[in-house]
Amino acid sequence: MLVKHKRGLFQRFYVVELLKGLTITMKNMLFGKTVTIQYPEERRNYSGRFRGMHYIKATNGVENCTACMLCPTVCPAECIHIEAGERPDKEKYPVKFEIDVLRCCFCGMCEEACPKDAIKLSTIYEMSTEHREVYEKDYLLEQRGNK
Ligand code: SF4
Ligand code: SF4
Repeated sequence: MLVKHKRGLFQRFYVVELLKGLTITMKNMLFGKTVTIQYPEERRNYSGRFRGMHYIKATNGVENCTACMLCPTVCPAECIHIEAGERPDKEKYPVKFEIDVLRCCFCGMCEEACPKDAIKLSTIYEMSTEHREVYEKDYLLEQRGNK
């Protein structure tokens, strides 16, 4: 059986609850610690473990990557595309190295799998664009300077 309770005017309009909520809001507004920052004038320092934009490491101007295909194999988003070539000294290298960053979930598995410490994820997080972004080898090599 449905029991109906009579509610007073205060309860009907939630006046007490409203005042309690307003008190908390005012307390936070006047005495609370500011947690927001004035971006882009102010920047937050993220942890070194933050996984942002990729880059390819190079030694003496030559990319560390030997096109072993481990990173495209482990990538769960299948967003790495590599075409391998061979140098005159028979060393393999990536003729093409592309990352479709729109598909990437920044899991860091490519970095973990790389035996040559070639592909890395930097702390750069400003990657928004108005178009579909595919990072190519030259661009990825340039980004190492921004780390
Ligand atoms: S971070 Fe993850 S999803 Fe992105 S390219 Fe590397 S393995 Fe693929
Ligand atoms: S970046 Fe590393 S894992 Fe990927 S193909 Fe090159 S050497 Fe292999």
